[in-house]
Amino acid sequence: MQYMKEEWLAELKCRFGDDITKWAFVCPACGRITTLQEIKDVGGEPNDGYTKCIGRLNGKGVSGASLKKGRHPKDGCDWAAFGLFGTLGKGDVVVGDNGKMIDVFRMADAPNIE
Ligand SMILES: [Zn+2]
Repeated sequence: MQYMKEEWLAELKCRFGDDITKWAFVCPACGRITTLQEIKDVGGEPNDGYTKCIGRLNGKGVSGASLKKGRHPKDGCDWAAFGLFGTLGKGDVVVGDNGKMIDVFRMADAPNIE
């Protein structure tokens, strides 16, 4: 999906509510669904939540490039959306106010996560 920044924020609020710690994104490499609360818990910034797999922040992530299909490591992987392969075609694109397009992790489906 491609969103204008305002649309993207509106959609996140619609899915997860105003509390950004409940917002969740899917890593395109390992498929792990991570909330911004989890990102915060390992010392990350909210911005990390949609551009980096939690495995990059917790130091426990396995190499995203070496993952076998369908493997979902609990601690995530080392993927980042700003890397060479972006979001592997599985992410969303957000168009900022300046018209710049940013690859981001796809937002998770509306909460079935805690
Ligand atoms: Zn990952």
